[in-house]
Amino acid sequence: MILNGNLIASKIKEEVAYRIRNGKPTLSVCLVGSDPSSEVYVNRKCKTCDEVGILYNLKKFPSRISSQELSEWISQQKSDGILVQLPLPEHIDKNFILNQINPNKDVDCFHPENQGLLMTGRPRFLPCTPAGILEIFKYYNIKPKGKNVVLVNRSLVVGQPLASILTQDHEWGNATVTICHEYTKDIKNFCLNADIIITAVGKSNYRLTGEMVKEGTVVIDVGIFREGKKIRGDCVFEEVSEKASWITPVPGGVGPITVAMLLRNTVLAMERQR
Ligand code: NAP
Repeated sequence: MILNGNLIASKIKEEVAYRIRNGKPTLSVCLVGSDPSSEVYVNRKCKTCDEVGILYNLKKFPSRISSQELSEWISQQKSDGILVQLPLPEHIDKNFILNQINPNKDVDCFHPENQGLLMTGRPRFLPCTPAGILEIFKYYNIKPKGKNVVLVNRSLVVGQPLASILTQDHEWGNATVTICHEYTKDIKNFCLNADIIITAVGKSNYRLTGEMVKEGTVVIDVGIFREGKKIRGDCVFEEVSEKASWITPVPGGVGPITVAMLLRNTVLAMERQR
């Protein structure tokens, strides 16, 4: 069965549009440099803001901008939410920049204060991709409780927050989580023991194949890489879908829900600050 990300995203956008009927939130978005993937992501976020009526101001900086200049721009923003598109050029200290964002406006949930709140089970915001995956579970009533979950990713955007959320004691948590990464020996062995696999690598040298998945596993494919003009996920879809009970497609799975969760966080930021 295909987990339909577009369907869930459209429901979240409807909810967002309803919540902002009496007042529109504002979102400051900043893009540094001209990384083509980042441009695509930022355009998609802005287009989705337009769809639901969130007001955004998009600032594009050349890649030579200094950390100080970027930090000044952040401190001048009066919007409800602030988003700095990652990755940043190497000469910019990413952590310094993320620390400059007011935690109440940190709709990506990258500020250490917000990450700390999340890890301690008192989230102010949920990071967009993990939050989107929770929405998939809720919509299709897939309960992680008591399940073996394998995450192939340990980043602060996906793997770390997900591990925290899925192991905490709440209705959509209480899973047993294993985190795999580039140095994990024999990922197949871990994946074969998983009831739920969440894979987010996005590199052509790693694929989740049919022989790595047991019958009935729920597979959430977050990874994205380009093969010519095609967008691929981590899964060899035709193989893994033969084994999985549920699977997200790429595109049309986690991606659109992630953007929708950004909108929801922006509304949340507005509701708390106004
Ligand atoms: P990242 O920081 O580069 O994380 C990639 C992870 O994959 C790291 O934990 C890395 O391990 C691991 N990895 C790399 N090569 C591996 C291998 N051969 N075997 C096993 N693990 C390997 O990137 P990210 O920001 O988390 O994003 C990951 C992917 O998800 C990307 O393709 C990104 O485009 C996609 N993504 C999609 C969405 C969406 O909305 N659909 C949202 C966020 C991210 P190490 O830590 O050891 O290097």
